[in-house]
Amino acid sequence: MNERIVIVGAGHGGFQLAASLRQSGYAGAVILVGDEPGLPYQRPPLSKAYLLDKLPLSELFFRPEDFFSESGIQRVTATAIDIDRKKRRVLLDRGEAVEYDRLVLATGARRRRLPVEGADVDGVHGLATLADADKLKSALRVGCQNAIIIGAGFIGLEFASVANLLGLEVTVVDAASRAMARAVSPAVSAFFEAHHSRQGMKFRFGEGVASIIGSGGRAKGVETSSGQLLSADIIVTGIGVVPNDRLARAAGLEVENGIIVDAQLTTSDPNIFAIGDCCNFLLGSSGARCRLESVQNATDQARLLAARFAKDQFAQYDAVPWFWSDQGSLKLQIAGVSAGCDEFVQVQDVKGLSVLCFRHGVLAAVESINRPADHMAARRLLASTGRRPTSVEAGLKDFDLKRFTIEAAA
Ligand SMILES: Cc1cc2nc3c(=O)[nH]c(=O)nc-3n(C[C@H](O)[C@H](O)[C@H](O)COP(=O)(O)OP(=O)(O)OC[C@H]3O[C@@H](n4cnc5c(N)ncnc54)[C@H](O)[C@@H]3O)c2cc1C
Repeated sequence: MNERIVIVGAGHGGFQLAASLRQSGYAGAVILVGDEPGLPYQRPPLSKAYLLDKLPLSELFFRPEDFFSESGIQRVTATAIDIDRKKRRVLLDRGEAVEYDRLVLATGARRRRLPVEGADVDGVHGLATLADADKLKSALRVGCQNAIIIGAGFIGLEFASVANLLGLEVTVVDAASRAMARAVSPAVSAFFEAHHSRQGMKFRFGEGVASIIGSGGRAKGVETSSGQLLSADIIVTGIGVVPNDRLARAAGLEVENGIIVDAQLTTSDPNIFAIGDCCNFLLGSSGARCRLESVQNATDQARLLAARFAKDQFAQYDAVPWFWSDQGSLKLQIAGVSAGCDEFVQVQDVKGLSVLCFRHGVLAAVESINRPADHMAARRLLASTGRRPTSVEAGLKDFDLKRFTIEAAA
């Protein structure tokens, strides 16, 4: 087979696609173009074990160097700067062009820049890449005493937990009214806020950052929107990401909050596909569009395309989304998407909390804190076509999600 698949982006989705193509027996050329130096690596540990020095660099890599040569995956370190759809080739910043039969965009998302004065000075960090994590690791270990985290999302709070564990005084500032407000129910926000506060973290919700205060080219603190001056040795921004869809947009593909794909992950060009954080896809059979930032989504989408390219298996993408976040001793696991849910039922014990989230009376997501059995049950339940609990059933005193799932499947 002389076919050539070019994958742009060598992160979770891009790497998984290349590896799955070979696992599925794909015999054509596989060219993996990535703009970061070094071997493809896992991102989640960057804000967790890697930052705490609990995971060596070698374990961040998906596979060692010889995996790529032995599997016949050609790695190209370069930035793709243009797509010539007529000639089916991708132009690289180093001057050459790579021809494709099928092109997969797995370009991920990039950090949203803090739009205030002083945001670019030394001492203001982001956390999206290995290079960012290495910079932060060194900064944390040179006598820092206090940290300000701008943004109480997943990455902000994971970093805050690490800084807290390393003994820094931590203040989290967020314009929203609660933690992880975009992604979790109010009960889960409250659980995390209470836990982190007990560990000594301070929260300032409903307050934005007006500017970064600097001195001699270094950040010294922030001025909040209410005029408060907060000093810090280290400032980390975690105010979300934007999809890397510039290439697709410039090539005339349909783009809106990510690269628009159909149920089989094809863009508006039948020879170009998009997966992972950069793509805007159809969520199951609901017809709703969504863009997710999660390892599961990127890798499941990659596997679906690999089966299509290697074995001509055409399937619609309908995986149940799931996600996790580790913050100190708390593990949050989410199955499904709780955005738009209008009814919440809490199931709690001494170990943790699960929140069953209902949309128009139908169970749509389960958020679990330190309750892995609930999470696994929720994934099975949401993937099945079987009966789901009503909010009344979930609210009964002896309700057990795992037992319900087993009984529903029987
Ligand atoms: C610190 C951190 C912690 C996280 N923790 C979790 C977690 O606990 N659980 C979870 O589910 N998710 C987590 N995520 C999110 C998860 O890592 C992403 O959802 C996942 O990496 C998406 O995979 P992807 O392949 O779409 O993009 P990425 O893995 O981001 O890969 C995209 C790659 O494409 C490259 N690229 C972009 N444009 C070009 C171009 N023009 N040419 C060449 N290369 C290009 C980028 O540099 C990047 O290397 C975390 C993310 C971060 C940053």
